[in-house]
Amino acid sequence: MKLLVVATALGPLGSGRGGGVELTLAGLVAGLLQRGHRITVLAAQGSELPADCAAAELWSCGGSPQPSVQHQGREALITMPADALLARFWQRVLTEAPAAGFEAVLNLGYDWLPFWLTPTAPLPLFHLVSMGSVNAAMDAVIAEVAAWDQRRLAFHTAAQAADFALAHPPLLVGNGFDLSAYQFRAQPEVLLGWVGRVAPEKGLEDAAAAAARCGLPLAVWGLVEDEAYAAAVEASVPECTLQWRGFLPTAQLQAELGSCRALLNTPKWNEAYGNVVVEAMACGVPVVAYRRGGPGELVQPGVNGWLVAPDDVTALVEAVERVEQIDRSACRQWVERHASRAVLAERIEAWLEQGLQP
Ligand code: UDP
Repeated sequence: MKLLVVATALGPLGSGRGGGVELTLAGLVAGLLQRGHRITVLAAQGSELPADCAAAELWSCGGSPQPSVQHQGREALITMPADALLARFWQRVLTEAPAAGFEAVLNLGYDWLPFWLTPTAPLPLFHLVSMGSVNAAMDAVIAEVAAWDQRRLAFHTAAQAADFALAHPPLLVGNGFDLSAYQFRAQPEVLLGWVGRVAPEKGLEDAAAAAARCGLPLAVWGLVEDEAYAAAVEASVPECTLQWRGFLPTAQLQAELGSCRALLNTPKWNEAYGNVVVEAMACGVPVVAYRRGGPGELVQPGVNGWLVAPDDVTALVEAVERVEQIDRSACRQWVERHASRAVLAERIEAWLEQGLQP
């Protein structure tokens, strides 16, 4: 197939502003290229594709990024900045993609406009929905596409898809990772880890509180989206509990992450998937997570980590104390079986082929 993959309009690929979608896109594009598809990626100016996506063509657009919809409230109106990058993306799709011979467009952005365009677009638009429900207008437009032709929608996990009003059972594709990029580490250091955008929906404060009660340092990797929130979390725990490690490219992130005794994953929202959960496991790091959203499906208690009741810091502390019962090599094996890039590419290919049938 000749496919156009549209990236998030939150910022350039490689900046971290697109959250997990950046890594999802890289894995998906590399996996589809490996299966012989011809891929063009449409992304914000300044985007960088990893080396294994070099065979993909890159189309880029300038313009003002979208504000992230999850930070605006459930009843927030759909907004478009002047000179919107999102508008430029979709103008380019509508005017250039049909003549360029693309069979389908695969959208990874969680934006109202491409969903709304879907029934009337001059070529088939597919959407890999990257978040659960965060906004009423988004819920409505996703439900409209589902009612029109649900074959155009795929989701990462059942917990995520359950947020939406769907006409049929959801198509679930999980996610896929380049396992050769993650090194297994058998021996941890005296360290807990937390990875994610530092923003309230990610619940860093609970992981920090649990680490403090365990008397263990917590290394934090990720883009600080909300400085005031980061400062409040820092102030809530004894000095030296948190080690701010910044936002690192995957190669460096995995090298440091592997040294953790456990990854704490404590989201306050219905996390669609939880890339960082699987990335930690790929390094041999067991995950202690809330039984909520995607991580609640990825963590197999006793195999690759422990699940605890959502928002229960005492339960987190108890689970950290039981983490040496988890075999670190079983964490890696679980990822190899369930979340490789090849597995994702096969699922995406099957989805598109099915959706393109009359
Ligand atoms: N990430 C990274 N470097 C860091 C911290 C995080 O590249 O130092 C990436 C990580 O690999 C993951 C993404 O940030 O792909 C976070 O994705 P996740 O699905 O966990 O959450 P989201 O940000 O999409 O809500």
